[in-house]
Amino acid sequence: MSQKRYICPVCNSNDLTLKHEASYVYSYLIDQDAPGLKNTDQFLSYLYDRREQKDSREYIECNQCGVQYPYTCLNGVLDKHSNQSYK
Ligand SMILES: [Zn+2]
Repeated sequence: MSQKRYICPVCNSNDLTLKHEASYVYSYLIDQDAPGLKNTDQFLSYLYDRREQKDSREYIECNQCGVQYPYTCLNGVLDKHSNQSYK
């Protein structure tokens, strides 16, 4: 199995993180007790009636210089084959 090394072209760091960012709208129907059909005694935000994803994106962030790259860069500018061995 060949190993890939990912290098930030700006600062040459390999300290990279893949981030998944998403925004959701949670809906809770108003009934006789606490908002949300599944909530009775108190309102608990994870007991929602409907969840709607509005937006999401994935990107790679360099932890050294903070530059963000599109996810597709994993097969592009960030993918550096190297003969150097790190010990
Ligand atoms: Zn960097």
